Amino acid sequence: MRFVILKEVGVTLRTYTRDIADRRLIFGRDNSFQTELRRRVDEYFRRTGRRRRDCPQMYLKTAIILAAFTGLYLLLVFVAATWWQALPLAVLMGLSMATIGFNIEHDGGHQSYSNYAWINRLMAMTLDLIGASSYVWHWKHGVIHHTYVNITGHDADIDVGFLGRLTPHQKRFRFHRWQHFYLWPLYGVNVIKWHLYDDFRDVILGRIGPNRMPRPKRWELVGFICGKALFLTMAFAVPLLVHRVWPVFLFYGVTMIVAGAVVSVVFQLAHCVEEAEFPLPSEGSGTVENAWAIHQVETTVDFARHSRLESWLLGGLNFQIEHHLFPKVCHVNYPDISKIVEETSREFGVQYRAHASFRAGLASHFRWLRRMGRLSAANLGGTSSITERVA
Ligand SMILES: [Zn+2]
Repeated sequence: MRFVILKEVGVTLRTYTRDIADRRLIFGRDNSFQTELRRRVDEYFRRTGRRRRDCPQMYLKTAIILAAFTGLYLLLVFVAATWWQALPLAVLMGLSMATIGFNIEHDGGHQSYSNYAWINRLMAMTLDLIGASSYVWHWKHGVIHHTYVNITGHDADIDVGFLGRLTPHQKRFRFHRWQHFYLWPLYGVNVIKWHLYDDFRDVILGRIGPNRMPRPKRWELVGFICGKALFLTMAFAVPLLVHRVWPVFLFYGVTMIVAGAVVSVVFQLAHCVEEAEFPLPSEGSGTVENAWAIHQVETTVDFARHSRLESWLLGGLNFQIEHHLFPKVCHVNYPDISKIVEETSREFGVQYRAHASFRAGLASHFRWLRRMGRLSAANLGGTSSITERVA
């Protein structure tokens, strides 16, 4: 069972037990839902002849996004001469960076971009290009978050430090009652801390929160250092050759805050909303009641599933249920797979939840922050309401 789980998130049993064994959890053993789901999805790919990876539309999308990013960078650094030219370019640049993260890096990092490991690695390294370490991200997101989603004390994505209370099982401070207002700008600022401090801290300590992370060795360490050097050169050294200091830092800040806020909010809509569950493992045995696949579905919420534009821009992160179940399938397949997942979930009595739009998800995240800021007593989280009635 555990081996099946870990194959899903892309690590081997041996690697996992060596590196984060100090806090490992055990999921429920009834795999019938996952087995049937896999059978149906396998059948879908057999029947349609569609590719799981190396999808032509992904290569086209990558070219468009990277061309936009390069063009915006050149315009911002070498052409913009006034603040009213630089400001919209910085905002668009932030959005293009978020799009690289959602589409290219995320698929590459999960090995769902291509059947060739080197292509996946190359695509994953686009994260280094926009400031964050792809090495640390693999452990933080690909392994820890994807295995322990929404489990307080294990999933680093739901821990924003003392400034925010995102789950019913985190300590509440009085000032959290205003968190549904003040957290939004902090989401943006947080990405600057991630790039310039968190990555270095995690690599030096060999830890991500309570979970151990192997320190990068040899080529991994070379990649980490070169990635940071490349980003700092692009973000500061090159612009400082043609501009004064304050505009460089100002527009770096604008770009990063836009990118960080968009990335954070999109990821928060999948797990930090009223409809998601926040289960705790049993004390002592560390057992999570549900089987791994059921846990993934019930702790995750889709949104805007019928918007082709949002699906294109967000790289399938509006289909996070499908992504968590099939992280090694390229995101362009998620809209079709979602119908199979939804139907199978209904048959097995698993709660499949989706918001009809991005706005509905955003409103639910706002209400969840307000609710977590107001309650001090244990709140088991999740509701039975399904925002988008599924046919
Ligand atoms: Zn992911």
